Amino acid sequence: MLFDLHTHCKINEFDGIVNCTFDDDFSLFPRFSLGIHPWDVDEHWEEKYAMLVGLLKNPPVGSFHDRLCAIGEIGMDKLRGGDMKIQEICFMNQLALADSYQLPVIIHAVKTINEVVTCLSRFQLSKQVVFHGFRGKPEQAAFLLSKGYYLSFGPKFNPESLRLAYQSDRMFLETDDSGMSIADVYSLAANSLSISPTDISVPGIFTS
Ligand SMILES: [Zn+2]
Repeated sequence: MLFDLHTHCKINEFDGIVNCTFDDDFSLFPRFSLGIHPWDVDEHWEEKYAMLVGLLKNPPVGSFHDRLCAIGEIGMDKLRGGDMKIQEICFMNQLALADSYQLPVIIHAVKTINEVVTCLSRFQLSKQVVFHGFRGKPEQAAFLLSKGYYLSFGPKFNPESLRLAYQSDRMFLETDDSGMSIADVYSLAANSLSISPTDISVPGIFTS
């Protein structure tokens, strides 16, 4: 069965995790993630953080906590977003929140893998960590996989990194904001792995 680990598309016929914003009607999504994206980190981050804390403490009616799959996407981005120090503080606070609510995290890391891993290592996260939209080289993939993290790949990926993640049973696929269908992403990955798209299985950490 197709599973889209991370999508911004709010109309999705496939199973997957919709990355919501604070304005969304969460009751529309069977599975969703919520967090402060590094691009949205500015001097007002504490207000957004307070909103996140408020939602977790006093969830809206409906099975909010059952459907909230992860805190995400969160992380750090050197090419876009606010001051790196503020990004780090915001990221750390959200990791602490994921830790206390025992939620997985979906990570956005652009040119910040080392910084992000340093932040992650300060927590004994009880749930999974997924690096989404992974385009890194095999050495980087091997490093993250060795730490027990999961990797999620969109339409653009390094074939060898994809293979490493697949062989470790730590590979997810996603559409993110590509506009592509998850079926097409599965086809691209299957081609690269020289298997049939129907033979692709992803870890069941969000579905079982
Ligand atoms: Zn995204």
